[in-house]
Amino acid sequence: MNFDLSDDNLQVKKMAQNFAEKEILPNLKYYETERIFPKAILKKMGETGMFGACFPEKYGGSEMGFLNLAIIAEEISKAHPAFGYAFNMQGMTCPFTILNWGTEEQIKKYVPDLIKANLIGMFALTESGGGSDPAGSMKTTARLDGDEYVINGSKTWITFANEADVGVLFAKTDPKAGRKGISAFIIETNNPGFSAKPIEISSLGYMMRSCEIFLEDYRIPKSALLGKEGEGFKIAMNALDYGRLTVPARLVGIAQGCLEASIKYSNERVVSGKPIGEYQMIKHLLADMAVETDAARLMTYRSAFLKDRGEVATRQSSYSKYFASEVAVKVTRNALEIFGANGISDDFPIMKYVNYANMLHFGEGSANIQRILIANDALGWKNANRHQIKRKFSLNSDLVLS
Ligand SMILES: Cc1cc2nc3c(=O)[nH]c(=O)nc-3n(C[C@H](O)[C@H](O)[C@H](O)COP(=O)(O)OP(=O)(O)OC[C@H]3O[C@@H](n4cnc5c(N)ncnc54)[C@H](O)[C@@H]3O)c2cc1C
Repeated sequence: MNFDLSDDNLQVKKMAQNFAEKEILPNLKYYETERIFPKAILKKMGETGMFGACFPEKYGGSEMGFLNLAIIAEEISKAHPAFGYAFNMQGMTCPFTILNWGTEEQIKKYVPDLIKANLIGMFALTESGGGSDPAGSMKTTARLDGDEYVINGSKTWITFANEADVGVLFAKTDPKAGRKGISAFIIETNNPGFSAKPIEISSLGYMMRSCEIFLEDYRIPKSALLGKEGEGFKIAMNALDYGRLTVPARLVGIAQGCLEASIKYSNERVVSGKPIGEYQMIKHLLADMAVETDAARLMTYRSAFLKDRGEVATRQSSYSKYFASEVAVKVTRNALEIFGANGISDDFPIMKYVNYANMLHFGEGSANIQRILIANDALGWKNANRHQIKRKFSLNSDLVLS
């Protein structure tokens, strides 16, 4: 067992840090105040190979692997947690699902442009009846009409939908068949019948939006079916399983960002003649933050490491999603306490971290749902790995990109 990051991993970490410092941090204010989607930055991220970390070279991937992806997602989310979304839409849930389940033709048509962010992606599963029960709440239908499917329904909280060119969408092809009646589709947003309306979420900012989407007699050819009819639920669960690598990495980035800001602040802020870091109760908060962030990181790296070895890591991904979300919420809460009133000021980064930690706590499977999955698995009632599929490809994760 070796817990050291390799030279390759450290180089990747440095590359992500440099990118955040040069390309993201100086431009944040512009994109946020002007409410402009930072496609130009996402494209530069795509060019570095960040989104293509887990994709084979033959589809434009950088083959850096899952551990390097986790390291990058952590560093970029530390700079600004909104950019963490892009790892799911451009690097995981949308293109990776197409890679895992698509035909050669579908993969070639979409994947290379998604991971370069030439195309913007989305993943449309959640409906207003409750994200925790996607099958039970799904009312969107896809009806075969000759050589086309006609889709009707709506989805909610769909990230990037107002900017997206293409997405993976789930709909019921057999509404009476429960989970087995769900199918997955690749949809293009410029077809008639698709519309997206951003949801107002001032706490998360305005440059990257989540939306309601509406499909009204939206037609796609039969060839847009992803996998087989009725495989949609399995495809969705498998996609979320991979998403549960980048989400904990994003949460670790948020926790680390808070920890670093809190250490700096504790050294600089003088109250009653002493830097507050000298007070024992502040030390206590900092110690918990440092230890728990480290533990969440190790759990996240373990599931990445297993995925890099081609092993099933569903159980470990659930553990790390659950644990990292609890840690990030606690660490951001501690940071607020350390910063006092300044914690809620826009001049300091804390509230941004607080809001994203709380959002990611329930996104991609809430803490309760993770607990249920973990406990059912522990009790032997359900095999944690039942939605896992064998990867169709292997990566040479020794490769490093500039
Ligand atoms: C900013 C943002 C971006 C998002 N992006 C996307 C996206 O791109 N694509 C997408 O498809 N979805 C997206 N989502 C939706 C997200 O995945 C859901 O919010 C999540 O699945 C939880 O669903 P819900 O919010 O409807 O909560 P609900 O399902 O209504 O749950 C509410 C509460 O009840 C608890 N609960 C529910 N069922 C049980 C149970 N059986 N036992 C115990 N407790 C339970 C939950 O843990 C939670 O605490 C996004 C959400 C947000 C906020």
